[in-house]
Amino acid sequence: MAESKIASPGFLEEIESESQQKVRVCYQCGKCSAGCPVGYAMDLLPNQVIRLVQLGLKDEVLSCATIWLCASCETCATRCPREIEIVRVMDVLRRRSTSEGYTSPVREVPIFVSTFINNLKRFGRLYEAGFVGVYNLLSGHLTKDLDKVPMILMKRKLAFFPPRIKGISKIRAMIRRAEEIEKQ
Ligand code: SF4
Ligand code: SF4
Repeated sequence: MAESKIASPGFLEEIESESQQKVRVCYQCGKCSAGCPVGYAMDLLPNQVIRLVQLGLKDEVLSCATIWLCASCETCATRCPREIEIVRVMDVLRRRSTSEGYTSPVREVPIFVSTFINNLKRFGRLYEAGFVGVYNLLSGHLTKDLDKVPMILMKRKLAFFPPRIKGISKIRAMIRRAEEIEKQ
């Protein structure tokens, strides 16, 4: 986490506006964190992320691992007495972290996401064998799960060749549009 503890004026308002969530009404009851299934692996608990946003501590929140580890399971939203959808806040924080050049402490996650999207753009739907190969290469985990490949192929759980689908240009246009919206 970055050392700076300087509040960024307007950060809370920006995150609230982009996520459409009233982060300021959180009263730190901790129910979100108590139910989070990924909390054990996070460097900041979900309620702490929300508190940092309230305080405008942008560097701390945009450089934390938690925003990359959140599994978007929505457990926190169902438990929150203030009806804050933390998933939407996490989404905005991840986007801001990327667009503002922060380095994710969990480098595999952005690699996983970009490999997944590029695979979809290329084939129209997930070509799993290609995805695993590229992900392993880029993440440096070259031999990860290689031992399982013969069994998976034998059981025909993984196609050896890429899928051929109709309307691939429409899928590409859809992804392009989503990327444009994300940049807005
Ligand atoms: S459950 Fe809601 S009100 Fe309670 S700490 Fe989490 S975000 Fe804040
Ligand atoms: S959505 Fe994210 S923060 Fe909320 S409970 Fe699930 S993993 Fe935890």
